[in-house]
Amino acid sequence: MLPNSEIVIVGGGAVGVGCAYALARAGHTDVLVIERGDDVGTVTTAQGAGLCGQVRDSVERTRLAMHSVATFRELQRSEVPPDWHEVGSLRVALSERRAEEFRRMKAAADAAGLETEFLDRAEARRRWPLMNFDATAAVLWCPSDGYMTPRHVAASYRHNAARLGVRFATATALEGIELRQGRVAGIRTNRGTAECRTLINAAGANAYHVARLAGLELPIFPVRHEYYVTVPMEGLTPDLPCFRVPELTLYGRVRDGGLLLGGWEPRSLSQDPRSFSPDNEPPPVVTDWPVLDGFEASFTGLLPTSRPAQKSWVGKGWPTFTPDGRFLIGECSGVPGFVMACGCNAHGISGSGGIGKLLVESLFDPHPGDYVRSLSPNRFLGSTPDWSESRRQAAHVYETYYGV
Ligand SMILES: Cc1cc2nc3c(=O)[nH]c(=O)nc-3n(C[C@H](O)[C@H](O)[C@H](O)COP(=O)(O)OP(=O)(O)OC[C@H]3O[C@@H](n4cnc5c(N)ncnc54)[C@H](O)[C@@H]3O)c2cc1C
Repeated sequence: MLPNSEIVIVGGGAVGVGCAYALARAGHTDVLVIERGDDVGTVTTAQGAGLCGQVRDSVERTRLAMHSVATFRELQRSEVPPDWHEVGSLRVALSERRAEEFRRMKAAADAAGLETEFLDRAEARRRWPLMNFDATAAVLWCPSDGYMTPRHVAASYRHNAARLGVRFATATALEGIELRQGRVAGIRTNRGTAECRTLINAAGANAYHVARLAGLELPIFPVRHEYYVTVPMEGLTPDLPCFRVPELTLYGRVRDGGLLLGGWEPRSLSQDPRSFSPDNEPPPVVTDWPVLDGFEASFTGLLPTSRPAQKSWVGKGWPTFTPDGRFLIGECSGVPGFVMACGCNAHGISGSGGIGKLLVESLFDPHPGDYVRSLSPNRFLGSTPDWSESRRQAAHVYETYYGV
């Protein structure tokens, strides 16, 4: 039997379990997380590349990412750590226009209190000896960026939230939402019913379907994303910084002694969430080798030794995108008690700590700040979405991820 709970979270990915941990840390422990898989963190989260970058285009987004890093540091000291490696990151500009963008990002970092520094080529080479920085216009270094192992992140949140009193029910699928006088009153699942006052929708690529159960239509689009990992290569040690090369739309890090290289292709593949069943994830991603080969070819100029390396693993899945590229966090005005925590625009793991904090602020702070209010799902409610236009916009967010 499922326990009645003040708050039920649907979805045990990085976002759902991260919210559970944030709620518990804020003293709200009457929380039940339901996850239809056999464990937490097995769907999109398990596929994540695990990078966490804090340098962003606004002070608020920088602070959100900084809160995530503070959370990973805290969890790293616990019995079940997220495998957090604070190795720093290099952001590489290949043109003066991009360098100008980096200067604006550095100004946002300075205002947020995040330490960053421009490196000259010799210093950049010292930090990533195999990389060729000859053609770079600027390299921005952030010493407190890093990477983690996404499944460990989910396990760490689960362990530490449970320690504080949060309950978890795996192999438990949400099938219906009980509304009483228009507000959330309970859930129906394959393992019985439970009462609750608040339901948090952290169902990732199924967030659209869960919102439908409450009678809401929210434009949340899964967009395919992929990276590859090579077999171990000489000179790749786990302490090398993560890197991002926006002009090549590439990012990467070292993983298991090999190179993890991912990117954002200019022509994306998205799903209309109405096209697949609420009972399933979107269709499995078939590895798109031409796209991955394109990443490899673009990167060879910077890391000549990486080209012939064999691939040992492909990460792939359906992170969700919103038409305006912003998270969906907060209660839906039409259905009191129904709360969104999704639409992560491929930041759901690195953002999980900050998303949890914003969620708590949106629910319990009598005067939530402008930033969290700007993420309210209400911006998409009130009229039926124009599905084809919304999908085009969400795809555009993906395709211009590193746009200036
Ligand atoms: C290739 C790739 C690389 C990526 N790299 C990064 C990265 O480096 N850094 C980063 O921050 N992000 C990265 N991302 C994005 C990141 O993986 C996602 O943003 C994040 O995992 C989303 O977490 P989530 O909890 O919203 O979704 P999920 O992890 O998909 O979790 C949602 C959960 O909800 C459950 N669920 C759905 N419906 C129901 C239901 N009816 N009842 C019960 N449970 C239900 C599902 O089983 C699932 O476990 C990457 C994604 C991909 C695909």
